[in-house]
Amino acid sequence: MKRYGIMGGTFDPIHYGHLVIANEVLSDFNLDKIFFVPTGIPPHKTSEGMTNPYHRYMMTQFATMTHPSFDVCDYEIAKDTVSYTIDTIEYFHNLYPDSKLYFITGTDAVLELPTWKDTEGMLAICTFIAVNRPGYVKENLEEKINQIAIQYHGEIYSIDAPQLKISSTDIRNRIAENRPIKYLLPETVEQYILKNKLYIRRCHD
Ligand code: ATP
Ligand code: MG
Repeated sequence: MKRYGIMGGTFDPIHYGHLVIANEVLSDFNLDKIFFVPTGIPPHKTSEGMTNPYHRYMMTQFATMTHPSFDVCDYEIAKDTVSYTIDTIEYFHNLYPDSKLYFITGTDAVLELPTWKDTEGMLAICTFIAVNRPGYVKENLEEKINQIAIQYHGEIYSIDAPQLKISSTDIRNRIAENRPIKYLLPETVEQYILKNKLYIRRCHD
């Protein structure tokens, strides 16, 4: 049975925090492949000010290009309606009905799970993996994650990965303020950002 990971995110831009956790999960859970799925129109974040999906998709491609087990999926950005994670998980479930699916999130995202559409439905066909994210260390984290798993009858693993205190918000602000972004994200992505003059205006989120 194949084992596939799904790594959802805005990837605005993608950075080493995303890549490190995906690679750690790939190895820890012995996955065959991880699909990076840039969000289309997200229900939880305002899409206003978000970089257009084409650039986010391209940056995700450049960032993952050299990894033989990383792939990029345009399912969400190809839609012009709000993208819910349940739809994406069902899409992969239908595409690979005989495989086991894992959805990868950071600490901040996993605690939001109860607010996502059809939490129980997602956990019925997909196992979640929560990876520790610096700056989001929460008291009784394990307990909270276990509670969510019990309440929604699913399986959620919690793992440690090398901790990188990197966020897309910080990278966007650094660019707008003319501060360095080198070594926070792959050089190809940095070049793509420069060439396309992305994030030059200040972000306030
Ligand atoms: P933004 O600041 O725009 O919210 P972000 O850095 O949080 O961007 P997202 O695209 O929102 O990146 O995150 C996608 C997924 O990756 C989420 O599950 C998030 O928790 C996780 N993630 C992002 N950065 C890290 C990091 N440095 N360490 C661990 N997990 C991370
Ligand atoms: Mg985020």
